[in-house]
Amino acid sequence: MDFSTPIGALPGIGKKRCEYFYELGIRNAEELLYHFPRAYQNRGNVLSLAMTPDGTVGAFVLTVATKPQTFLLKNRKQITKFSAFDETGKCTVTFFNQPFIKDIFHVGDEFRFYGKLSVKYGSREMSSPIYEPVIPGKKLPELVPVYPLTANLTQKALKGTTELVLNTLVYENYEFPEIFRKTTLEKMGLISLKDALREIHFPSDMELVKKARERFVFEELYAFALGLSISKKQIKKVGKSVVMTDNGIKEFLELLPYSLTGAQSRSIKEIIRDMSNTQGRPMSRLLSGDVGSGKTVCAAAALYVAIKNGTQGAFMAPTEILANQHYNELSALFGKINIKTALLTGSTSAAEKRKICEDVADGNIDIVIGTHALLNEKLSFQKLGLVITDEQHRFGVRQRSSLAEKTKEMGYMPHVLVMSATPIPRTLALIIYGDLDISVLDELPPGRKKVDTFLVDESYRERLNGFIRKHALSNQVYIVCPMVEDAESEEEALLPFDFTDDDIESKEKTKLQSAVSLAEKLQNDVFSDINVGLIHGKMKAAEKNRVMRDFEQNKIKILVSTTVIEVGVNVPNAVLMVIENAERFGLSQLHQLRGRVGRGADKSYCILVSSSESEKAKARLKIMCATNNGYKIAEADLEQRGPGDFFPNSKGDARQSGSMKFRFASLCNMELLRKAFEEAENVLAEDNTLSLPENKGAREYMQKLFSRLQNS
Ligand code: ADP
Ligand code: MG
Repeated sequence: MDFSTPIGALPGIGKKRCEYFYELGIRNAEELLYHFPRAYQNRGNVLSLAMTPDGTVGAFVLTVATKPQTFLLKNRKQITKFSAFDETGKCTVTFFNQPFIKDIFHVGDEFRFYGKLSVKYGSREMSSPIYEPVIPGKKLPELVPVYPLTANLTQKALKGTTELVLNTLVYENYEFPEIFRKTTLEKMGLISLKDALREIHFPSDMELVKKARERFVFEELYAFALGLSISKKQIKKVGKSVVMTDNGIKEFLELLPYSLTGAQSRSIKEIIRDMSNTQGRPMSRLLSGDVGSGKTVCAAAALYVAIKNGTQGAFMAPTEILANQHYNELSALFGKINIKTALLTGSTSAAEKRKICEDVADGNIDIVIGTHALLNEKLSFQKLGLVITDEQHRFGVRQRSSLAEKTKEMGYMPHVLVMSATPIPRTLALIIYGDLDISVLDELPPGRKKVDTFLVDESYRERLNGFIRKHALSNQVYIVCPMVEDAESEEEALLPFDFTDDDIESKEKTKLQSAVSLAEKLQNDVFSDINVGLIHGKMKAAEKNRVMRDFEQNKIKILVSTTVIEVGVNVPNAVLMVIENAERFGLSQLHQLRGRVGRGADKSYCILVSSSESEKAKARLKIMCATNNGYKIAEADLEQRGPGDFFPNSKGDARQSGSMKFRFASLCNMELLRKAFEEAENVLAEDNTLSLPENKGAREYMQKLFSRLQNS
């Protein structure tokens, strides 16, 4: 057996079951082993009966006090009961239809039970808990993995198969394809792939599971760093670009109906300076600016310069909607001065495409705007001088270089401008976009109204409802919840995969609002006279579109949602954003959500609802109240490295928001990221194409990572 062994070839896995694994994206042993638990049951944290409130899910170590007795209930169910105790009190343990249980529990034996404790009128009961005998000298596992599943597979099946594969590989002395060199493992104090996989799936204790996670996080960051460093070297290597002059840019800017912000003028100057570099060094610049900061006009200025210097421009957007939007804006602007633009996307007809390609090749079209269709087409330029890519949240390393490839045979390089709407702290940008110079639009055009932001707790619920009603009647309201559906209370007791000491200690388990049940409650109860809508990531695309359309057309007044509305939603009439369990979101994510309001003429508000007692959480949320500046928020998010993720990854609906899909890593950990880049540089210094056998694992991992990041 090895990593590439197909799932179907494993003992005990027939055709049906094999398909179930496919549904989870697991096709071979490697994918199975990299299918990590999404959470752990914390059975190591033993609770005491007397101190634990009703409804708590957790572990109790109890001694059996009475012989189990089986009774027959009226509904013909069998119930087996016995009493058990710890130092603080006693509890009745019951099982249904499992009479054999009486042979397992003997008076005086000790067991660890895991499940929900109910306390009613002073008497305690656990119903069908998980149980493990406590045997002196044998340590029970503290953490028990909980895997992401589809309906057809059970935890047990997944765990069993994982165990089988891991044990077999270890038994056969399989050489796990290590991405790190020995020296790196030692220097960084990382555990080996083999050990890390074992600890992730079958943790021996909290510390080791953390070590394992650290390794996988670093593994991913390291591969990321390798990929970026390699592409940076490729970009640096390439030839010269057309040296341009700022040909009449003043007149162009005078066409605009407004004057530039300071940040825009500065950025445009920086861009033109790059494009006119007398050594012919191609521009390679990131233009970073919060949504609404006016990046488009900077891009337009760069395009204008490129055209006036006798070259063409290409502008690539991540989605068709955005490509359309850019096209509408730019064609309106450039139409006035006889600069010719064209739009090329997946929905452009074949005939049109052919025509556009011809015109671009002949130089009849100056600027072509589109999606990645620009890459796929047999598009060749007469003289491509500038490539702009609008990245939204992504890192388009491959796109960036491959559009630039188009001029390679002509012996020169286009200038490259990358635009990003994620406010990203400068320090982080320097690392991630190490190959780019950076301009930041940290100033919004004048006249934008600040979104007033308040932090409230449950005690404000009634006043909040009044506030919502007022704004739903005059305008429209968003309410964002951290979850789609109500979780079982058991769910809340789980430690998240990336748990911290805070999670382990955290006694507070605030109930999480779910979009489905909140929408129902509001519609049926509090706002029965107002149209309440619901949207979340588990809905079908057509349904989502319908709800969004109804909201846009003001048929829905209050839209209860998950973070699906984070990006690309523009309803200027919405003036109130309410965020439930605000402590559950990263600051940058809260900022994105808040950005959904304040888009129209009316005064807008954002209400963060949180009953969290944690000082850290409160401090984070207060930053939101204090500033609307995405960069300040991003810096704070980074500094605190709290649960706030820049590029939300594994958490629920965040997946759908079109952001980065790291599996384990968060780019928040600057120290680790820096180390990853440092180590990547070290390795590349000796083996710049990763072709040595010791770097084979790294190369393969890197390729897989980038294809995932770019397709996400
Ligand atoms: P983004 O950075 O999100 O791409 P846009 O370029 O789309 O932002 O600009 C947002 C809006 O602000 C547009 O309607 C644009 O016309 C307007 N705008 C841009 N710059 C200025 C400015 N200096 N003064 C006033 N309005 C501006
Ligand atoms: Mg834009």
